[in-house]
Amino acid sequence: MSNEQPTTCLNLDEIHHLALTALESNGFARAQANSIASSVTAAERDGCTSHGLFRVSFYINALQNPSADANAVPSLQVDDSTVVHVDGKNGFCPQALDVGLPALVKKARMHGTAALAIHNVYNIAALWPEVECLARQGLVAFAFTTSNAYVTPAGGTRPLFGTNPMAFGFPREAMPPLVFDQASSASARGEIQLHQRDGQPIPDGWAIDDQGRPTNDPDAALAGAQLPFGGHKGASIALMVELLAGALIGENFSVDSSNQDTHKVGAPFGGELLLAIDPSKFGSTAYLQRAELLFSQVLDMPGTRLPSQRRYEQREKSVAQGVEIPARLLAELAKMTKS
Ligand code: NDP
Repeated sequence: MSNEQPTTCLNLDEIHHLALTALESNGFARAQANSIASSVTAAERDGCTSHGLFRVSFYINALQNPSADANAVPSLQVDDSTVVHVDGKNGFCPQALDVGLPALVKKARMHGTAALAIHNVYNIAALWPEVECLARQGLVAFAFTTSNAYVTPAGGTRPLFGTNPMAFGFPREAMPPLVFDQASSASARGEIQLHQRDGQPIPDGWAIDDQGRPTNDPDAALAGAQLPFGGHKGASIALMVELLAGALIGENFSVDSSNQDTHKVGAPFGGELLLAIDPSKFGSTAYLQRAELLFSQVLDMPGTRLPSQRRYEQREKSVAQGVEIPARLLAELAKMTKS
């Protein structure tokens, strides 16, 4: 018997409209809803299901937190320094990024290197859209954000670090940029939630239960702790992200976000740090060609691909053919959309 779920094919405008309508009907102001819907649509388009329409309920549930503001208007602070700040005013990260990214690009072009510190946002999105956006404008880009305390340090048994993603973008000549975006946990939490939703066991090495024992049960994993990728190496990346997106910019550590989450909503609250470098200021005129040389050496080896290649291929397909959305998810969205 096939266990394939029924799906409906939607085009990208329809996906955006669905997300926008669900968010607005639950009290999100148009600008917040629009930025979030664009983030969700981009994720569906690129085959990043865990940050697509599946996430809309997370944004809506985040409003159960009394401090979350669906009407927040982020404010931009730019001075003579190389650091731009955006105060998200307890709203959601996608709109804060829309406000801050143009100022970061301007600063990086002016000074060679610049940073954008985003404060006071709920952040449940993927990070590749912002580094791709910067790299498409010719900049080398990094992004870091903390989350909630879900991941145990190497050898630990209790969650302390977030799943703490970091993303990197590098421009390419006449090609979409090279981008990677990865959690510092063995898997994104959304992936465990998708396994839970679908009644599937999780792979070995993703998590331990609340007694510190390895588990394949998504419920036990969500109640226990996720493991960092690559043991102590991933744990060090998670620690670095806590320091950059927490200590350095004066925002929550993941454990602070968890402690503030008194309603157990699970939407991380804190900051995001972005760094942008203008390669033209580094004196090498051949960086694009040198990068291509390296990429071709990678791709010469059978079995390899570049990070972001899958996303760009999926993007082309989605733009041409639309995206298959599980009927069950559409039913859930319809239920949460208030008339
Ligand atoms: P994956 O492990 O699926 O992918 C990580 C990266 O590796 C991607 O850039 C991917 O490129 C690349 N990649 C995968 N396979 C290969 C391969 N064989 N060769 C070369 N590159 C490869 O992502 P994660 O599960 O770690 O993270 C998922 C998402 O969750 C991220 O977008 C992250 O930002 C988000 N997240 C958000 C959090 C938040 O609080 N806001 C918290 C944690 C995670 P490609 O995309 O092309 O497959």
